[in-house]
Amino acid sequence: MTIQNNLFIDGEFVDSEDRSRIPVLNPHDNSLITEVAEAKKADVDRAVEAARRAFPAWAKLAAADRGLLLLKLADAIEANADELAKLESIDTGHPLRDTRGLDVVRTAVTFRYFGGMADKVQGSVVPVEQGFLNYVLREPIGVVGQIVPWNFPPMFTSWKMGPALAAGNTVVMKPAELTPLSTLKIAELARKVGFPKGVINILPGYGNIAGQYLAEHPGVDKIAFTGSTATGRKVVQASAGNLKRVQLELGGKGANIVFDDAFLPAAINGSAFAIFHNQGQACIAGSRLILHEKIADAFLEGFLKLARSIRLGNPLDADTEMGPLTSQLHRDRVLSYVKVAKEQGGEILLGGKSPERDDLARGCYVEPTVVRAKLADRVSQEEVFGPFVSVTTFRDDEEVLAIANGTDYGLGGGLWTTNLQRAHRIAGAMRSGMVWINCYKRVNPGSPFGGIGKSGYGREMGFEAMHDYTEAKSVWVNVDAKIPPWYPR
Ligand code: NDP
Repeated sequence: MTIQNNLFIDGEFVDSEDRSRIPVLNPHDNSLITEVAEAKKADVDRAVEAARRAFPAWAKLAAADRGLLLLKLADAIEANADELAKLESIDTGHPLRDTRGLDVVRTAVTFRYFGGMADKVQGSVVPVEQGFLNYVLREPIGVVGQIVPWNFPPMFTSWKMGPALAAGNTVVMKPAELTPLSTLKIAELARKVGFPKGVINILPGYGNIAGQYLAEHPGVDKIAFTGSTATGRKVVQASAGNLKRVQLELGGKGANIVFDDAFLPAAINGSAFAIFHNQGQACIAGSRLILHEKIADAFLEGFLKLARSIRLGNPLDADTEMGPLTSQLHRDRVLSYVKVAKEQGGEILLGGKSPERDDLARGCYVEPTVVRAKLADRVSQEEVFGPFVSVTTFRDDEEVLAIANGTDYGLGGGLWTTNLQRAHRIAGAMRSGMVWINCYKRVNPGSPFGGIGKSGYGREMGFEAMHDYTEAKSVWVNVDAKIPPWYPR
């Protein structure tokens, strides 16, 4: 396996100007995988200049030709899927069955979707007053800065890069310093399939240095960010200097509601997927289980049994169902919420600790954790971002909506019921960018992804995302209008 550990600027893998390096660890045992070059301000300047130089020719290229390169990149990712999945598993701790079965597949599918869309996004003609033609062009914005977190690195790379490139923008992307390897690998494949120099630039580095400077940079026309709400706020402030466009995909506190008429086996399995897949490190995780009091005991019996049976282990083992969290710091942060829960009267129903197993002792593991908590408790309000679910009960529709809508977030939420009317009524009343009925955490490159409130603004995926990476230019033509002189003389 070849591991790229340099910055990717202007079509070349290069060291950072001051040669600083960041250790990249395998969260299974905290062993060193490699040391990656750390981008500083001078490197951000170099990358933005390269993207700026590349922009005019890339924007002018026929949309179908831009699309073709994205299609070739999707093929290259599929051809290298085994290697990418392994790299991702050692870098992030996601089990191989997830990285090979979901993450890498979705990455290729997303690049392919936007490759196909490149020449489908059209302008329009507006029916204005007689004698005039008014047409609207969809033009690329320019140089786009993109900041990607550590929870789904290759997928988020494709979600951000796909529409930006298809629309004719050039990209400077900063992956999280914890997990830069798959994004760098994608850059290597992009170079191989023939992306022109400077169109894609990748800068591993620290958020508060390279990320902050990218968000401030006067040469960047738009910044797209996925991460915490607190950092999203900093990105907005940093963007103010040149009033660049901002797109934010922030945290969530997903309400996962189970009604008393739900088909319980599916609800139990789907709810476990909603919170435990990816060790709960997902902005759309179903991190609040809200159970109708009539079925709460039966549901919990099955849910706890399933959670207890989830196989923790080395992400590279084929039968591992849950790997470690992505860093030691994050594991400690997640475990600190156990104390927080207890202090506020929460009851730990399962887990709440690292597994007591010698083979996992050096890694960042946390057992599936289930906590009974009240709506106002911090564990029901704050994003824990781990295999940690809070449980509460409700009596009727009015109460369940008050609970579901009772946080500042509004990203994703789900409900389980066999009552058709209730399903649509509750989905309509949930304050949330996405709702799943009798399923959870479904995503597709055609379906808009994003939230409201403190979960951010703007949408990824679909036509929405493509439009968010373009500016509308309105052109007026006097075809045969008789315009009376404004200053008759
Ligand atoms: P952050 O929001 O700090 O990090 C997300 C990304 O932003 C990373 O690439 C990070 O870089 C970068 N970043 C950090 N500071 C700045 C800055 N000042 N300007 C620009 N970019 C910056 O999340 P954390 O990693 O600290 O995780 C904390 C919590 O955030 C999690 O527990 C979770 O609740 C939430 N989170 C939500 C995510 C989501 O998908 N919505 C994703 C990640 C986290 P670097 O890591 O290199 O420092």
